[in-house]
Amino acid sequence: MSPATAELFDQSVVPNYGRYPVCLVRGEGSRVWDDQGRQYLDLFPGWGCNLLGHCPPPIVQAVQEQVAELIHVPNTWHIESQGRWAKLLSDRSFGGKAFFCNSGAEANEAAIKLARLHTPEDRFKIITFQGGFHGRTYGATTATAQPKYHEGIGPLMAGFVYVPFGDLAAVRDAVDEETAAIMVEPIQGEGGIRIPPDGFLAGLREIADAHDLVLIFDEVQTGCGRTGHWFAYQDSDVTPDIMTLAKSLCGGIAGGAMLTTASIAPSLRPGMHAATFGGNPIAARAGIATIEMIEEGNLLDRVRELEQGFRTWLEPLIETIAIVKEVRICGLMVGIELQVDGTPIVAECMKRGLLINCTQQTVLRLLPAMILSDAELQEGCEILIDVLQNHIT
Ligand SMILES: *Cc1c(COP(=O)(O)O)cnc(C)c1O
Repeated sequence: MSPATAELFDQSVVPNYGRYPVCLVRGEGSRVWDDQGRQYLDLFPGWGCNLLGHCPPPIVQAVQEQVAELIHVPNTWHIESQGRWAKLLSDRSFGGKAFFCNSGAEANEAAIKLARLHTPEDRFKIITFQGGFHGRTYGATTATAQPKYHEGIGPLMAGFVYVPFGDLAAVRDAVDEETAAIMVEPIQGEGGIRIPPDGFLAGLREIADAHDLVLIFDEVQTGCGRTGHWFAYQDSDVTPDIMTLAKSLCGGIAGGAMLTTASIAPSLRPGMHAATFGGNPIAARAGIATIEMIEEGNLLDRVRELEQGFRTWLEPLIETIAIVKEVRICGLMVGIELQVDGTPIVAECMKRGLLINCTQQTVLRLLPAMILSDAELQEGCEILIDVLQNHIT
């Protein structure tokens, strides 16, 4: 990238991100280009936000139309699109109501607040899971049971209890008369594409019902078609009381939502919660266009097809490449756990024009777009496999 851009960042941008020395200028589908004219195949587009690929035409069109008409009005008014968006989400999930915000962390803050409001005042504890990730605001960071994210920022918010992911006995032990809610990702994303054992979500539902707890599913990463269902929980016969969404919700535009049942929703009384930009005209139009694009293109079916493709290419690596420890795939969530640090693999892939991610040090993570072609899938897998095969530990 140009030295001038590097200098602007050095001088003027808070250094809280580990950034690659690459400046991206354009994207289309599963491709992005940098300011030197280099092209990349992006199997981690937008950190999970660009599930429809870069600059999906229906989203571009919806946003262009909307910005010329009405950019923002506060939630003291009605806008038809926000209501219609809420109904579309409700019809595709558990028939409840939506609160709109701008990010995953914000959606989770709303969920935490609502769970506490909905339960008796002496119930405030929220059970969350080790290795989980819920965002960076204080409530969401506290809900995130990973010590590395808590270092030096205490005191954290009171009332969170952490248990091992997948361990129902530990959840039962953790419940007491002060417990208000259980909050979980149906599949841990940032935690390394960790898929819980069969029956885990159903077990959480049983525990929640037995103790009158609010069951919150954080589907910020797993939702909106990522797993080949509208929402990951739909692969089980379990329904949450609250579900949070963001990332790919608006086809790459910033947006978040908390959905909850019609019986819980009134606990968030007028004046108790707000997000100034939540459900704004641009996000609402983009959110509606996202749902329409997925349905018109039968893209949920395409996710399941692409899942099979990734399985065919990547699952055999457990046998054929010594540093590959485990391959975990659900829809378009792909995790390749290595015996070694994944950072140099990501760097080598980038040199070869392929963008992927590494999380938890040793898990290569792919969150590809639904519009990936078979040829792109092959191209990406071939580069990745070649890099893994030639990696010298
Ligand atoms: C990314 C993510 C969040 C945080 O979303 P932001 O939009 O960055 O606040 C929360 N939960 C899960 C599961 C995520 O993957």
